[in-house]
Amino acid sequence: MAERPYIVGNWKMNGTRAMLSEARAIDRAAQRYMKAEVAVAPPYTLIHAVHREAEQIGVGAQDCFPGDDGAHTGDISATMIADAGAKFVILGHSERRADHRETADQINAKIQSALDAGLRIILCCGETLPTREKGEAEKFVLDQLRASLPQIEDAAERLTVAYEPVWAIGTGKTATPADIEAMHRAIRRLLDETYGEEHSAQVRILYGGSVKPENAREILSLPEVGGALVGGASLSAESFLGIVVAA
Ligand code: PGA
Repeated sequence: MAERPYIVGNWKMNGTRAMLSEARAIDRAAQRYMKAEVAVAPPYTLIHAVHREAEQIGVGAQDCFPGDDGAHTGDISATMIADAGAKFVILGHSERRADHRETADQINAKIQSALDAGLRIILCCGETLPTREKGEAEKFVLDQLRASLPQIEDAAERLTVAYEPVWAIGTGKTATPADIEAMHRAIRRLLDETYGEEHSAQVRILYGGSVKPENAREILSLPEVGGALVGGASLSAESFLGIVVAA
């Protein structure tokens, strides 16, 4: 069964209440255009407001605390995110791995908290440019995933993987179609080994890294590319919807 492509906007640390009009526009268009599944991950401060605006699109968070509610000043738990209306959380994004030195152990604890709170997960992976230039991209990405894929069969139905080469994020550079296809096929083989083919088939593999309306069609038509995780181009409804309709 060919699933609808999953197009997710990662607003990162962007967005005040003025952005709610973009969310409304995205939601209205998504109601008319049902060929793609559309979602956005606004900053924590807007999750509830976007959730209230959204009839069609999914709303998610960009991170969560690796544990239960309690005395952790400034942190936000998976339970709180779910209560605000989020249905999923992006975990292991390269900006968090770099800026906050997130380790696989921390990411795994976040995954467990998110699953316990009933959230779906978008687990990010991706290599840096030196790693790709050394010819070690595939090994690096598969090791990153091996360290964090939840080892329970029924996690597969709540899991999405996003392959985002670090050097392609926010840079205007994208991986070549051949490189994207090769990496997505390698990730699929790992998912097949981990969950068995039947459960693995439920996991979509998104591509992320400078996806925009001009390159979306080509990227989204590649085998094993089940959608896109979009940063910069998700900040205006016009460019984000340009990607949605290319899907
Ligand atoms: P970008 O970001 O589309 O701005 O490259 C993608 C991401 O980091 O998810």
